[in-house]
This record gives sequence, structure tokens and C-alpha cells, in this order.
Amino acid sequence: MIATDTAGGLMALAGGDLRVPLVDGRWVRHVNLDNAASSPALEQVAAAVDELLPYYGSVHRGAGYASVVTTEAYAGAREVVRACIGAREDDLVLFTRNTTDAFNLLAGALPPGTTVLTFAGEHHANLLPWRRGDVRHLPVPASPEQALDALEAELRALRGRALVAVTGASNVTGELWPVEAITRLAHGYGARVALDAAQLAAHRPLDIGAWDVDYVAFSGHKVYAPYGAGVLAGRADWLDAGPPYLAGGGAVRNVTVDDVEWATGPARHEGGTPAALGAVALAAALSALSAAGWERIQAHEQALLGQLLAGLDALGARTYETWERGQDRVGVVSFNVASADPDLLAAALGAEHGIGVRAGAFCAHPLMDHFGDRRAVRASLGVGNSEEDVVRLLRAVKRVARHGPRWRYTLRGRHLVPDPDPRPRPALFGQPTRTLVPSASNSPSTEK
Ligand code: PMP
Repeated sequence: MIATDTAGGLMALAGGDLRVPLVDGRWVRHVNLDNAASSPALEQVAAAVDELLPYYGSVHRGAGYASVVTTEAYAGAREVVRACIGAREDDLVLFTRNTTDAFNLLAGALPPGTTVLTFAGEHHANLLPWRRGDVRHLPVPASPEQALDALEAELRALRGRALVAVTGASNVTGELWPVEAITRLAHGYGARVALDAAQLAAHRPLDIGAWDVDYVAFSGHKVYAPYGAGVLAGRADWLDAGPPYLAGGGAVRNVTVDDVEWATGPARHEGGTPAALGAVALAAALSALSAAGWERIQAHEQALLGQLLAGLDALGARTYETWERGQDRVGVVSFNVASADPDLLAAALGAEHGIGVRAGAFCAHPLMDHFGDRRAVRASLGVGNSEEDVVRLLRAVKRVARHGPRWRYTLRGRHLVPDPDPRPRPALFGQPTRTLVPSASNSPSTEK
């Protein structure tokens, strides 16, 4: 079921006009401000998947027509992604599960003796995979200039092969990192650069060829293609020489009982049956974003970001920035309001106001330690959002901050959940759950 209503957003999303129940029995339009974690499918993405589904067959393995169509679609998706991210002709474009998977793959393919340089404020996906080898963590810099200075000092002192692993946009602050300047600097010292584009790919056009970036990783589910595929793209030499990421069928040229001849190219690391629908979804998403126009996407998001920041400032919220305000950033804002516990605020926004945000440390514990607050609330914008969404968030934050939640919440695991939680759930895949049927009495709402 695809929504065609953009609900004031720039592009239509599956579920863009979703109505959700609140704990008090009312129903409201869902406001999704958790795009940095995962974003719903673009209408064009869901349509592309629906189109392929009747033809779905095994990739590379079958002689039947469906298998031929699916194999061609999978190969075609790779070329669409290559074009959309400006990859060089001889770069490998690998389909992975997500960014985490992509960096684990690359970490396993680094030539022995490679030192990885990264910054302490990175997402855990760009910290932990490198720890299996030699990694240096540079402190969170006070400015982009300081990032470059610190990196240069480290590169100058290094002997041997190095990889600089850096984010394009922070998942906590939304701030954009000076990727091209970092790449020029790294290359000047013979180091390569891996770009974590998980938070960039949905907001800015990627052009790794023009930026001269060596590797890029990002996730389909953060670019409106939540069908299980991500990307690692970049220089073929290390990837072709590194051990296969997933040993198994498809990754080989020949196998005997005693020996194996591994394939090169994407097959080397894509053992097993790939997520063809995910790859096609990802290609469809990048194409749709590009067709919508990156300037329009940016203008839309920046207008909402300005509105969000101004509103949070007016509420006296603390927002989190590594650098001075005013640096270019994507629509990601982490904040705290003095009078409200962030977990409680996020829980109340969801259960009492139908607004989806995230609270916590955002898989960036060292960065939150740098800020001196282990927990915050994060609102993150996407092409489905509208001015009305931001107004709803600000109004709800103000209400909860002033008057506290109107419901009771208890800790389940690490999350606060409504107690009780009377919200019905949809009956999914035939499971016997409470059925989601808005009754006449609770359907109308003052909160759109
Ligand atoms: N890097 C950044 C900057 C991220 O925001 C995320 C996801 N929050 C990741 C990497 C990891 O992405 P995934 O969970 O899709 O592997």
C-alpha cells in the first residue's frame, strides 16, 4: 500500500500519511523525525520493488526467465549506483547489508600493516571495525581546520600505509566534514580515505570520483530504500587482494576438496544469494532523489532545519554541535531541554503525540562523552517532512517540558515504554495481534 499524499513533504513515502494511535485513544498523523536512524521507502522505491517482485528469481544461478530478469536487474542496479555516486569505472561497487557491514568488509580487506586514522566522534560503525588492526583515534576537533591540522600532524609522523576513515555528516550533530580537503591532505601523504556516507547519502549528492575519495559506504535504509542492502564502493586493488568477506557459493571460480580459487570483483565479497530487491530498491532511491533535484531537496531540508533550530533555541534547549553554529549541516539536531529527561521526552513524544524521534547516545558514545551528556533527543529531517511536522514537534516538546508527561512510563530493557500501552497494533503477516481499527469515537483528532 503506497501513499501518494506527501502530507506537506517534498516527496511521497510509503506510509507518508500514516495515522497512529496515542495512549489516550486518539489517532493522529504520524510525524517521522527519525530519518537519521532509518527512513521509510520512497513511493518510487516501493513501486520498483513491486515491479520486480513477479519476476523475482535467483541471481546468477538460474536458467529460467525470472532468474535472467532478476540477475539483469541486480547488475543494472550496480551500474545505477555507480553512476549516482560518481564512482570511477574501475571502482568496485559492492552490495552489503548496511554501512556497518561495508566497513567490516573493508576492515578485513586492508593490506597488512595499514594504520587507520579516525576521529573519536565517529559513529561506532566507523570506530569498531578498525579495532581488529592498528587504529589511532584523533580527538574530537574544535573546528574543521583543527581536524585538518590534527590529521596532518598524525600523517606526517606515520610511516607506512594508512587509511583515513571519516564521516561525511555526523549522525549526532548533522555537521558536514570537509571531505575534499581531508582527501587532498591524506593523498598528499600517500594515505587513502574511506568516507562514511551513512548520513550524507540522503541529503547531498555523492561524487566520490570528483572528491577523489577512495572508498564510500552507506545504507539503503537511510536513503528511503529499507530493503536490506547497503553499499561499499571504491578502489579494486585492496578489495580484490583481501580475503573474501563471505566464503561460500558465488565467491569462487573453482573449488576442489583441498583448494579454492576465489573470484575477484564484487563476487569475491558477495558470497551467497544477494539481496537483489534491496539492490534494486537502493538504485531506485538514488535515481528518484536525483530526479527530484538535489537543490530542491537541500532547500526544503534547510528551511525546516532553520525552523527547528530557531524553535529549539526559543525553548531554551541545548543543541549539540562539535563546531560553532552556522557550519553547513544536514537536518539532524540532537538536543536536551533542561527540565525533561531525554528518554522520557522521546517516549512521551511517541506515545502521547505520535511523533517519532530517538533518544540515547546514538551509537556515538565517545562523542556524547565529549559533550558531557550521555543522552539526548535527536530529531532528524527527511524529504517526507513538512513545516507542520516541525511545528508539531516544537509544540509537543514545549508541553512535555513544561508540564511533564501525561502517562506513566516504565523501563523495559533500556527503553521507557508506556505502562500500560493500550495502543492497538496492526495485524501483520497473519499474526494474531490486536487489530488496528480506528473506531469512530477515537478517529477524529485535533492534532493532525
Ligand atoms: N555511520 C553513521 C554516521 C550512521 O549514522 C550510521 C547509522 N546510525 C552508521 C554508520 C551505521 O549504519 P547502519 O546501521 O546502517 O549499518
